[in-house]
Amino acid sequence: MSSGRAQLSKIRQVLVERAEARLSDAALRLLIEQTGEALLLMDAAGHVLAFNAEAGHQFRIPVPERLEHGCLPGCDWVRPENASVPLEVSPLTRALAGEGVREERWGLRRPDGTVVVLRGSVFPISPAGSTEEAPSGVLLRAREELLPRLDATRAARLLAEAGALLGAELETEAQMEPLLRLLVPTLADAGVLFLGSSGESVRAVAAVHAEPERHVLLVEMLCRYPPDTLDPRGLPSLFLTGRTERTAELTEEHQVALTRDVEHARLLLSLGLSSYLGVPLVARGRIIGALALFRTDGAPAFGDEDERLAEELSRRTALSLDNARLLREAREAVRLRDEFLGIASHELKTPLTPLHLKVQLLQKQVDLLAANGKPVSAERVSETLDVVQRQVRKLTSLVDNLLDVSRITAGRLKLELEEMDLASVAAEILYRFAPSAAQLHCSLEMHAPVPVLGRWDRLRLEQVVTNLLSNALKYGAGQPVRLLVEADGRTARLIVEDGGIGISARDLPRIFERFERAVSDRHYGGLGLGLYITRQIVEAFGGTVKATSELGRGSTFVLELPRGDIPEEWLSVPGAPEPKP
Ligand code: ADP
Repeated sequence: MSSGRAQLSKIRQVLVERAEARLSDAALRLLIEQTGEALLLMDAAGHVLAFNAEAGHQFRIPVPERLEHGCLPGCDWVRPENASVPLEVSPLTRALAGEGVREERWGLRRPDGTVVVLRGSVFPISPAGSTEEAPSGVLLRAREELLPRLDATRAARLLAEAGALLGAELETEAQMEPLLRLLVPTLADAGVLFLGSSGESVRAVAAVHAEPERHVLLVEMLCRYPPDTLDPRGLPSLFLTGRTERTAELTEEHQVALTRDVEHARLLLSLGLSSYLGVPLVARGRIIGALALFRTDGAPAFGDEDERLAEELSRRTALSLDNARLLREAREAVRLRDEFLGIASHELKTPLTPLHLKVQLLQKQVDLLAANGKPVSAERVSETLDVVQRQVRKLTSLVDNLLDVSRITAGRLKLELEEMDLASVAAEILYRFAPSAAQLHCSLEMHAPVPVLGRWDRLRLEQVVTNLLSNALKYGAGQPVRLLVEADGRTARLIVEDGGIGISARDLPRIFERFERAVSDRHYGGLGLGLYITRQIVEAFGGTVKATSELGRGSTFVLELPRGDIPEEWLSVPGAPEPKP
């Protein structure tokens, strides 16, 4: 009885074990089928031992059968970027030789002639404890690389997402990277966004490669070999043509030709770029940048739909960037205006206070003297009027400057040209500055050995020399100021040198701009207009004005003016006749 029960329980156990085995077998099969990847097991002799439905679909294998090493019946391993070129050593052959093949991209031409691009790995398998070098088999795991084809819905979604990104206020170029990440890998495998134009400097403001390792290489390449506007190899030619460009097959030669040295070529080729689509960013008819998109080995070249989408995105990006720029400029202009109004009211008020006090004092004295029946001292009145006149002159010059700026802005700066000698004009202005220089204990020197004749507008020329000399005294820290006038063929040159506070290299480029100052208004008064007006006048004469300086070491301003349409003999000074006034 008991042996019968034991037998029964044994049978039950066997049944349970079989059921469990079937279950785990079924679970394993389910797992293998559900991975979505092609799985294929092959022994060392090249027999396909097992494969899942996806592998059957990819390799078009009806039943497992004996296969040659590295081959599947009727299938050819080809280069992913070029289906007509066979792969020298197939991934299976390499794995069977013991090599670990990780995350590679292969092309596979199937028996029906279709080509599929697979990305996968092949793992050599050796039984546990085996010390043999050659594996007993290999397991191939691969998935079809879906080509980034954009249907209308995805394209619309992409545009909407880009719109949301661009709608947020574009403060910095750093926001360009998220935009590029929308396109990679949906539309392209890699992308670079350039800002700038070929006449100015061009910078790569964002770069993305879908593969992390290649992304690092792309960023490294752009850091080490930034675009160079002077080197046409460094920039997409669309910067010159302003038109979208497409290259279906980026050959190695083509890519190497774009590089500057061997290392550059190595980096570029390591990115695996196979096709290119470049779209200019155009705002208000001006190229402000470019979007360069790439696909990598095996992916199809860009098509018309891709081009249209990239162009639409570039259009929207350019518009947003330009609007952001305009907004920034408008804000900056308002800030400058407010700052200027503060300084201008302070500057206009400064001469008014002594003016008011002096007039008030004079009035009181006159009243007092009149009340006492005494005569008013002419000397006293004249002294006070001197101060009044000085302050009125200051006010007039401030207002004149303001008027000049509005004239220049409105393009109404008119020149009345006549023949004159720059050396005499400079000497006259220098003479006018003698009293203020003496007050500052500053020596004024002039070196103008010969007359320098030319055709200029006298008042404007005087204004230019006045501005340069008054600055040299104002910022000259009491050091000697030198003025040189010379001629160089058809060019007249005037140089004003001082040994004063100087200008830092950072400030130097902006001092000729409107309202720009390099000193604090607590220490030095001024509207920041003198040099702006000077440059505008000089440029209206067709000349240039440049400054060189070092902080604490003084400044040199060099003015070069074309001498205009003057008789040939006037060029050969000395001895040239003074022109008639
Ligand atoms: P302002 O003198 O009214 O400020 P300018 O346009 O004449 O305006 O000059 C602009 C700025 O350039 C000045 O504020 C000053 O910082 C700098 N600058 C001009 N000339 C000199 C100079 N000779 N030495 C040092 N700094 C100078």
